[in-house]
Amino acid sequence: MNVQTPPAHFVKPFDCRHYINGRYFSSENGKTFDNINPATQEVIGKVCEGGKKEVDLAVAASRRALHGRWKSMTSDERIRIIRKIGDIILERKDELAKLETLDTGKPLSLSSTLDIPRAAFNFHFFADFMRGVGTEAYQTDEAAINYAIRRPVGVVGLINPWNLPLLLLTWKLAPCLAAGNTAVIKPAELTPMTATLLGEICHDAGLPDGVVNIVHGFGPDSAGAALSEHPDVDAISFTGETTTGKIIMEAASKTLKKLSFELGGKNPNIIFADADMDEAVQTTLKSSFVNQGEVCMSGSRIYVEREAYDEFLATFVEKTKELQVGDPFDPNTNIGALISAEHTERVVNYIALAKEEGGEIVTGGRRPEGRESGCFLEPTIITGISRSSRVVKEEIFGPVVTVIPFDDEEEVIAQANDTHYGLSATVWTNDLRRAHRVAGQIEAGMVWVNTWFLRDLRTPFGGMKQSGLGREGGIHSLEFFSELSNICIKL
Ligand code: NAD
Repeated sequence: MNVQTPPAHFVKPFDCRHYINGRYFSSENGKTFDNINPATQEVIGKVCEGGKKEVDLAVAASRRALHGRWKSMTSDERIRIIRKIGDIILERKDELAKLETLDTGKPLSLSSTLDIPRAAFNFHFFADFMRGVGTEAYQTDEAAINYAIRRPVGVVGLINPWNLPLLLLTWKLAPCLAAGNTAVIKPAELTPMTATLLGEICHDAGLPDGVVNIVHGFGPDSAGAALSEHPDVDAISFTGETTTGKIIMEAASKTLKKLSFELGGKNPNIIFADADMDEAVQTTLKSSFVNQGEVCMSGSRIYVEREAYDEFLATFVEKTKELQVGDPFDPNTNIGALISAEHTERVVNYIALAKEEGGEIVTGGRRPEGRESGCFLEPTIITGISRSSRVVKEEIFGPVVTVIPFDDEEEVIAQANDTHYGLSATVWTNDLRRAHRVAGQIEAGMVWVNTWFLRDLRTPFGGMKQSGLGREGGIHSLEFFSELSNICIKL
């Protein structure tokens, strides 16, 4: 195998190798694939294509590390390293933000203010959180005492999507480490750069070799599948599409791995006529189009109470037309490039389908002029579409939303729940009772009232129905990443 110690500083796109047992490796068979910048469609680097061989090495390194220096460290030492990883991410924020923007096509203004600072905060948050975590204890009548101890689950596979690459990877990795596990990370094939750099950051923070391993590659018949079916992996934390979750669940069932899934969504954004319309429009612009609409919690099904429908739609369309689509490195850009040509095609096909299904494209729907060489698409609003159309039912994962009027509370709750997804929802109203009433009836893991994406990392994050399995955040992440052993002592 080709061995390379971590390069000192990456300031440009680079070839991505696997990070196993504290070193960078190429694939044994020498296979690579192209990393493409979606904003220009240029090849910006080669990515090593890992498979069973590399996953085997990474899992073996993780298993060894689980019983090595990492295990004998005090929790204080571990917490210090976890905090340090966050510190280094902040020190290298600009470099990481550029790489994230090159990989994803998202505006630099977003990667530098959301993705990378939040990645650092994920480590800082779980470092702090661990200090306050205890377990349960009970004294029984038979003069016995029961108490639970928390142990690591073991070797955990972390399989990640491309839309918020470092943010979501670290959202898993920080609690995984805080609970004393070791990890094999499979980054999304479309966004390998920040994950690769994270190997070097973990190394520099003093993490023992083998505690974090990173294997690049694809899903089916590749690194993703090898990881999810590996007999020596104890748990899988996966974020991605619902259909992929089902495949991983089947593969993982052979050794009954613990599973945590954060999957797709088709989230309702319900606007009652009594809401503060300016705020509802401003936030709806974000929940519709931030990150090119490539956000699992995007509020892409907008329902507006009929008496406010015309007013809302007029302002929403006007403000949407003002959004700048273009060069992700331009500070004035609001919407960058979609992740790939293939995904853009998929989103464009949904717009064509909306027309076939009787919808009207009131703004957007096209690739912006002069930007044909990149994966750009205008923010798109569709009206006049039937509630049962595929465009309303299926996750598009792009800058495309539908706006539908409704007449009463019961009707809109039924519409909101008429989906196999159940990730998040937003309700806009100034009626306190209605806010509680509606929020409590929507089948979603997270409901926001008069806001969107306002996150407290202690709260349960995850989806109902086919949007997920389990919850992440605060103690919920630790529940997944640790095993409780009850110890009963007769006194
Ligand atoms: P995806 O399911 O195609 O891929 C995600 C990861 O799984 C990638 O690393 C991929 O290589 C891997 N993978 C694919 N097939 C696999 C297989 N058979 N076995 C093992 N691994 C496999 O998802 P994506 O296109 O990268 O991301 C978009 C999806 O992610 C959307 O559906 C979105 O809603 C969802 N998502 C959900 C959340 C959440 O928190 N609920 C957050 C972000 C994204």
